[in-house]
Amino acid sequence: MTPFLLALVLLLLGLGLFFLARRQRKESGLPAGEIIYTDAGDWRRNDRPLFSNRYRLVGKPDYLVRQGRMIIPVEVKSARLRGRPPHDSHKMQLAAYCLLVEDALGVRPDYGILRYADATIRLDYTDALRRELLAAMTAMRRAAALPDIPRSHDDPARCHFCGYRESCDEALAV
Ligand code: SF4
Repeated sequence: MTPFLLALVLLLLGLGLFFLARRQRKESGLPAGEIIYTDAGDWRRNDRPLFSNRYRLVGKPDYLVRQGRMIIPVEVKSARLRGRPPHDSHKMQLAAYCLLVEDALGVRPDYGILRYADATIRLDYTDALRRELLAAMTAMRRAAALPDIPRSHDDPARCHFCGYRESCDEALAV
């Protein structure tokens, strides 16, 4: 993998972490998502990453479902929702896949699907969600250019499971 592609992959990963850090926010402004019932029998697993040079983004949705002329990205999570709403980080990851489908495949999806172990959520890919995603990407790129980024939370458990813990000088003790 080239350094450029690696940077893009890290950007998408960073996006997820960025929104994970904001998931406790009271008013996220993100849509809640709607529970739907789908037959996953004809879903086709997606094995290739999608690239967008325009948005400097790469990602690989778990499934791409064709519905007429539309292509719907699907992200599968092993976790259970247990009646709670999806994490903001999951919603933004799915929004990024919608943007990738739009730019890389040339068809803007009306929505994407988050499939959990106990629920399937339809997330409408609205103009507002798209704007939120683009703003987050801009914020992430600005933050990545800073020499130092302060910790954004006081959650020791999050640091405990963080892959950057060994090299982070702001990690909280559990
Ligand atoms: S270890 Fe550092 S990077 Fe990881 S969650 Fe804690 S503060 Fe953030």
